[in-house]
Amino acid sequence: MTDATQTLQPKPWISGIAPYVPGKSAGADGRPLIKLSANENPLGTGDKARAAFRETLAAADALSRYPDPGSVILREAIAAKFGLDPARIICGNGSDELLHLAAGTYAGAGDEILYVRYGFAVYEIAARRVGAVPVEADDSDYATDVDALLAAVTDRTRVVYLANPNNPTGTLATREEVARLHAGLPKDVLFVIDQAYAEYLSDEEEDGGLELAKSAPNVFVTRTFSKIHGLAAERIGWGYASSDVISALHRIRLPFNVTRAGQAAAVAAVGDDDFVRRSRAHNAKWRAWLAAELEALGNHGVRVVPSATNFLLVLFEGDVTAEMMNQRLMDAGYIVRWLPGQGLPHALRMTIGTEDETRGLAAAIRAALQG
Ligand code: PLP
Repeated sequence: MTDATQTLQPKPWISGIAPYVPGKSAGADGRPLIKLSANENPLGTGDKARAAFRETLAAADALSRYPDPGSVILREAIAAKFGLDPARIICGNGSDELLHLAAGTYAGAGDEILYVRYGFAVYEIAARRVGAVPVEADDSDYATDVDALLAAVTDRTRVVYLANPNNPTGTLATREEVARLHAGLPKDVLFVIDQAYAEYLSDEEEDGGLELAKSAPNVFVTRTFSKIHGLAAERIGWGYASSDVISALHRIRLPFNVTRAGQAAAVAAVGDDDFVRRSRAHNAKWRAWLAAELEALGNHGVRVVPSATNFLLVLFEGDVTAEMMNQRLMDAGYIVRWLPGQGLPHALRMTIGTEDETRGLAAAIRAALQG
């Protein structure tokens, strides 16, 4: 006999998840908008990666054969580029997959997963997905507060996520702060340093995460091909950790998690220093330009959080709120990211676009403030 009151229910910790909200590319009416909502590379993809992608797809068996499950050639290319051991690199379906693997491997029901307030949205989902308790430490004026993180560690903490630089705030914890955070964590906590925007940093800003991961048994650094390399569509990420951590992560990794064309494109992208350099230079120039333009609007209650990334978090603390500005920018043809779901109803996150897009965005913001 079936009980008429029985219904299929997701696990309670799954029901507690608010799904990830991706950056939009169209308005409510379906009109395409200039997309500055997902931190993609405004220069597109480098020629070398595009050529490798095209070439792979041209092969007769491109679609009928599974890709290399171990991403061997890609791991070797990454290892050669960064002076790493290829056996200690893991590739993922975007770095998102790797962030989920970290939670799934080291935390479960009743454990705690810690990150800073305004941390990357995936951390909460990754924690809840495995039944762990997400714990947020206070920020320090939108930036990472190492003391607050260390004070929030308990004997149930299993994973600490640090996006450095952070999304959506754009802020950077220094090399010294990262080292101090690591030194203060218990050795049985996995410290995930999410470096999705690392390639935008100058040499002086570099946070030392990969060096730490070379020697520390509990550090997992993640990187992505979605941002500066312009390969977001193919979903490719990679991570570096001790052999023990990597072999544990592999236990629950999906077997064919990176596409064949994606692997080939990423190999070419790793070797395309010129495209990375041009992308970084473009970003540095137009980020500084946009920040200066917006800082000049301080009398309207506009404030720019200092950014080390390819986007700006802009606070609207005057008469024109972030919600109003978001709508006015959409009316003007631009889509940025309003983040009320992440505790930032007073802020918009804006990706640095092409020169024309960036100039157009600044003009649209100015016009929108004037009513
Ligand atoms: N980590 C951070 C801080 C991000 O901002 C993003 C994407 O926006 C990711 C990880 C995930 O990137 P992907 O899964 O495309 O590698």
